Amino acid sequence: MNDPASSSKPVGSTFSQADESGFTEKLSLKRSRRRSKRRELLCPRHPDQKLYSVSAKYHLYATEIGQVMLRGLSKRKSDELLAAFNRVLPLTGEWIECFWCDHCECSTWWYVKRHDQLEHTLSSVPRELWEQATGVIRVEGNPTVSDFSRRHARARGVTGMRQYRFL
Ligand SMILES: [Zn+2]
Repeated sequence: MNDPASSSKPVGSTFSQADESGFTEKLSLKRSRRRSKRRELLCPRHPDQKLYSVSAKYHLYATEIGQVMLRGLSKRKSDELLAAFNRVLPLTGEWIECFWCDHCECSTWWYVKRHDQLEHTLSSVPRELWEQATGVIRVEGNPTVSDFSRRHARARGVTGMRQYRFL
């Protein structure tokens, strides 16, 4: 079997869902009038609605071979990578972040995957990813899920509408 990660040519055809909703089209329009490094994320439930970030980015890391293999690496390569990072491998280009949507009228945590500077996909956060989130959990420390859950609950509860109005 070939290692898919080593043959990552820019195919440009894989995000058909985005194409159907006109998402890509809008993004390319924005490309011309916005400064290139700005990202604009749209609500997966309301494709025309811009999302407002209401949390930090919680970056993800992998501690198990299976988690790395899910990103398209072979078992051997995954093991090598994990070893190189002392069994805590930062996963670049993907994170968990909370966004407010004016249409949803609520904030939602999304699992964000960045494909390039402007293209992202948002999907619901798989349960196990919460345990792979960094940011509030220091990588070099002793990661505990409960620490994260506490912060997460606080971010949802206390900041409330005040934070959204501010944005
Ligand atoms: Zn929405």
